[in-house]
Amino acid sequence: MAQSKSTKQSKQSETSAFTYAETKRLEIMERRYRKAARTQFEQRVAYYHTITGGHYTSITIRDQKSRWGSCSSSGTLSFNYRLIFAPSIVLDYVVVHELCHLTHMNHSKDFWNMVATVMPDYKIYKQWLRDHGQELTLEAHLTRLGIPLTI
Ligand SMILES: [Zn+2]
Repeated sequence: MAQSKSTKQSKQSETSAFTYAETKRLEIMERRYRKAARTQFEQRVAYYHTITGGHYTSITIRDQKSRWGSCSSSGTLSFNYRLIFAPSIVLDYVVVHELCHLTHMNHSKDFWNMVATVMPDYKIYKQWLRDHGQELTLEAHLTRLGIPLTI
């Protein structure tokens, strides 16, 4: 699941304007959101796994620059923590997508049919990620909530 490459560059230029204390504060907040993301992903994987079946071995939470999720051949499900900033149904779509890879390790017609069986309107959320994925940063999230980035 690819996303725009411009995110990294714009994030770096934004964070370089912060003081040491501000950077530390943002790091602490990021850690909290990562923890929340882990809880959310574990719960949603447990729920959707009862529908999709398949065998997974572990769940890892990452801050992948170019992926929303992945599924290894050994059954490790990886998710991008920044999905915690997306509408929860979009996070669910990525969970369903990766869980379906436990059955189909490709993007074949059978794979997409399985995704559609679990989540009939998945195309809306797939498109939402294409359109809004690059807005899923801690800085943008705090700004949307009206929480200042600087102190
Ligand atoms: Zn995929």
